[in-house]
Amino acid sequence: MKIGVLALQGAVAEHLRMLEEAGAVAVAVKKVEELDDLDGLVIPGGESTTISKLMHKYGFIEAIRQFGEQKKPIFGTCAGAILLANQINGQDDFHLGLMDIKVERNAFGRQKESFEVTMPVAGVAADYLAVFIRAPYIMEVGENGQVLAKYEDKIVVARNGHYLAAAFHPELTEDTRLHKFFLDMVKEYRS
Ligand code: GLN
Repeated sequence: MKIGVLALQGAVAEHLRMLEEAGAVAVAVKKVEELDDLDGLVIPGGESTTISKLMHKYGFIEAIRQFGEQKKPIFGTCAGAILLANQINGQDDFHLGLMDIKVERNAFGRQKESFEVTMPVAGVAADYLAVFIRAPYIMEVGENGQVLAKYEDKIVVARNGHYLAAAFHPELTEDTRLHKFFLDMVKEYRS
């Protein structure tokens, strides 16, 4: 199983390490051609506006839309979840618009810019340590979506078909269970 990590900006190396530890071959993706032989893609955290600009500049918006439309799984974490969403609260536009979720950016306020909390994630772990950094939250999940975790009544992990979104940074701990969950999704869609 070969998984790419979009490597335009953000927490790339950490995702590569976690994916390898979870049992995949992981590669940094800097050019659209590098999407061709991948089974799945991770869009990392960072700054969604910066990553989006670079995605436009290097042709990734169209290329990743095609990737998703081929039912290849995509996992967006933090800024990556914002990039996947088809609605961003307070904005008329979206970036990829692939996943039927509505997100709000920087949702946890100034005093809570970054924090860690242990929470259950359905189908993944009863005690998952989540690291939030200027995190968004998921306000709504579309019809066929599943809510996998909430923190303070806000949705922070959701799945919709072959798309997975987490508001926090799953690559910043030693816990590979959410990456393994994503690899199971990739297996499901490969067969
Ligand atoms: N606040 C960032 C954004 O809106 C996301 C932060 C992150 O990815 N850690 O893009």
